Amino acid sequence: MPHVNNLLRRPRGAPAAWLTLATLVFAARAPCAGPDWKQIGEETADLLADVIRVDTSNPPGNETPAANLLAHKLAAEGIAAEVFESAPGRGNLYARLAGQGGAHPVILLSHLDVVPADPTGWHVPPFGGVRDHGYVYGRGALDAKGVGAIQLAALIVLKRSAIPLARDVVLLATADEETGGRAGAGWVVEHRPELLADAEYLVTEGDHIHVRQGGRRVVQVAVAEKTPCWVQLTAHGPSGHGSTPPPDTAVTRLVRALGRIQGYQAPVHVVPAVEDYFAALAALEQGPLRGQLSHLRQALEDAAFRDDFSRNARQNALIRNTITPTVLAGSQKTNVIPAEARAQLDCRLLPGEDPVRFLRLLREVIDDDSVEVEPLLSFPASSSDSNSGFMMAVSQLAHADLGDAPVVPSVIPGFTDSHYFRARGIASYGFVPFLLTDDDEKTVHGLNERVSVDNLRAGVRRLVALLRSLP
Ligand SMILES: [Zn+2]
Repeated sequence: MPHVNNLLRRPRGAPAAWLTLATLVFAARAPCAGPDWKQIGEETADLLADVIRVDTSNPPGNETPAANLLAHKLAAEGIAAEVFESAPGRGNLYARLAGQGGAHPVILLSHLDVVPADPTGWHVPPFGGVRDHGYVYGRGALDAKGVGAIQLAALIVLKRSAIPLARDVVLLATADEETGGRAGAGWVVEHRPELLADAEYLVTEGDHIHVRQGGRRVVQVAVAEKTPCWVQLTAHGPSGHGSTPPPDTAVTRLVRALGRIQGYQAPVHVVPAVEDYFAALAALEQGPLRGQLSHLRQALEDAAFRDDFSRNARQNALIRNTITPTVLAGSQKTNVIPAEARAQLDCRLLPGEDPVRFLRLLREVIDDDSVEVEPLLSFPASSSDSNSGFMMAVSQLAHADLGDAPVVPSVIPGFTDSHYFRARGIASYGFVPFLLTDDDEKTVHGLNERVSVDNLRAGVRRLVALLRSLP
């Protein structure tokens, strides 16, 4: 694998605006004056807009120019950054702000790649980095270039402040998260473990501060995730002319297998982390729902409640394994019977499930030996302590900054790169200090993805406060 050190390399077309502004704003301040948060919000928004303009749609990713852009901004602040590639074009960014050494490092992790965006339906170009009416628009605004922008800005604020932290703060912005992270976080963990040595905590995407109907805030921190078990089905059969079909072909076998899968529903299984999550949310509810969520396992034994609860796709995903057919491939031509037909399933398993057992079950459901079932991506589930020093610091933030909003350790139906770090014993938390409504969240992987400048400003401020209050 090529190993490129692009330390301080100036990216092509890197805008100089940030450099100049940042220098002016920070240089003008006396060491003990507090940061000018309004200005920092503006700069973070400009930085985010710049990095959105670097198209890192994955595949193919091509994250190196984005990593270089961030490295350049850090360099302008006197923070040395390193860009290294896991493969040509697959850049990862690393920087470290040294602490006094009284505690183990904390890692701030984001990813540089984004899911592709079809401009149809967007009211701005998805890679235009457009700022409009207090928002920054573009693919990655929330997932996860906006996360990387506030993490980088927090590092700069800390660098400029006169008070060093006890622990090192490590900044990582990696490639390839959206297709499983093997060329990003997975590669870093395997090939550059020295960068993570001794780290105690990691903060990344996954959950945030929810704004519910009526404006009530709930601080959710993801401590556990479902895990992917991506599967490929391959059916075989005689090839031939579509005018003279044999009774069974690769396509008919595949369709039959998918029909059986569609007819199967995984049983309800309430794992302890999910039980705790809903029990914590119960306190926010009134009436019978309060009792039902407090004792979810029992409540779900009632068929009417179970149907009602499962109608919410997110809730349903948290109480059972799910199987979602996504990719289909057969013949290229209408009159040609292919010898092979393929489907891919996006299966998601609850924490604690065994992928080997799940694959065995899938084969039983399909009940056809001529259909091959092979895993494409799978890793064991992992979780982090919901009673750690990090969680205490989040509670402190909720108390000081969010009107004592409740803090809820959550389980998320998706997955992030956290598992690579949890597997190395680093307590990893999905927490982005943005205030988001359900409507804001729907723009992630969707149309008109955006984040408000208010969120960017407050996000940097909250992240700095959180890092400062880590015990
Ligand atoms: Zn993401």
